[in-house]
Amino acid sequence: MPTCPDCNGQGETFRFVDYRDGHGEHGYFPCDECGGTGQVSEERIKARAVGKQLRDWRVHTLHMSLRDVAPRFGLTAVELSHMEHGRIPIPDVLWEAAGFGER
Ligand SMILES: [Zn+2]
Repeated sequence: MPTCPDCNGQGETFRFVDYRDGHGEHGYFPCDECGGTGQVSEERIKARAVGKQLRDWRVHTLHMSLRDVAPRFGLTAVELSHMEHGRIPIPDVLWEAAGFGER
């Protein structure tokens, strides 16, 4: 399996964790992408690449924010953000608008 691109196979990343109670801390925490295994599936690598393409299209071609683009496709900004991170599938209408061609 491919090495996790977020933690470089380490299984943890150094970051700030916000406990949402007015506290938080910097430290090493299990990697969100691979869940601490240091490895991700080929599918995840592909989904991340497509998500990045989607983001590049929005930022560099449309020059628009998540909030501006999302409603045009019946999405929320949060949903569109998840798509750009490859976490949920991209609907056909958006796929075609971005000029991605055949699935
Ligand atoms: Zn990882």
